[in-house]
Amino acid sequence: MANLDDLYREIILDHYRSPRNRGELPPPAHHVEGFNPLCGDEIVVYVLIDDGVLVDIKLTGHGCSISQASSSLMSGAVKGKTLEQVRDTIATFKQLMTVHEGQLGEPAVATSPDADLRRLGELAALAGVVKFPVRIKCATLAWNTLAQALDETST
Ligand code: ZN
Repeated sequence: MANLDDLYREIILDHYRSPRNRGELPPPAHHVEGFNPLCGDEIVVYVLIDDGVLVDIKLTGHGCSISQASSSLMSGAVKGKTLEQVRDTIATFKQLMTVHEGQLGEPAVATSPDADLRRLGELAALAGVVKFPVRIKCATLAWNTLAQALDETST
């Protein structure tokens, strides 16, 4: 498992150092700010939705490596997808971040359903975060903010 951990650490560091989809989107794009007071992570998610498709997504903000890498990984996973696919990805990721609560000390990756991890691709790199409960809010910040942006644009 050490090699897998190393790979996941590399993915997280890569996205932290070279975040994807950084920047802002002009109106009519919608934007929502998210804040994780436990760690001081801040993020702004810009979404451009057209005809039920998340056409573009951009992110600004700053914070710890987990929060920034998670937002970068998220942007790549949802850009260009239908809103239904985006919501499905959000739900799958949040399940990954909550399913192991109460099983602290267990290797998160080993206990995750393989199918879910495969569906998540690079996002699986964040699965190890559940071993550190204080960091879960860092990892889910971008996702909760994106979910809020979708809610606000669909009303
Ligand atoms: Zn953080």
